[in-house]
Amino acid sequence: MKSTLKIDHDKCTGAGECKVLCPVEVFEIVNGKSTASGVAECVECCGCVESCPTGAIEHSSC
Ligand code: SF4
Repeated sequence: MKSTLKIDHDKCTGAGECKVLCPVEVFEIVNGKSTASGVAECVECCGCVESCPTGAIEHSSC
C-alpha cells in the first residue's frame, strides 16, 4: 500500500526535525511549514512521526 502522510499545519512549527531525520528526503520546509513533497519515496520507517516535537505528523502506516 502506498503511504499517505498528513501534516497538521496548525501544529507544525517548521522545526524541521522530520526533514533532518527522514532517510529519503521526503520533507521540505515551505513558508515555515513542513510539506511531504517526496512521499512517494517513503520507506515507512516512522521516524518522522516519532521525531515531530508537536505531534503534527500522521502516517498511514505508523
Ligand atoms: S516514515 Fe520514515 S521514510 Fe517515511 S516520511 Fe517519515 S521519516 Fe521519511
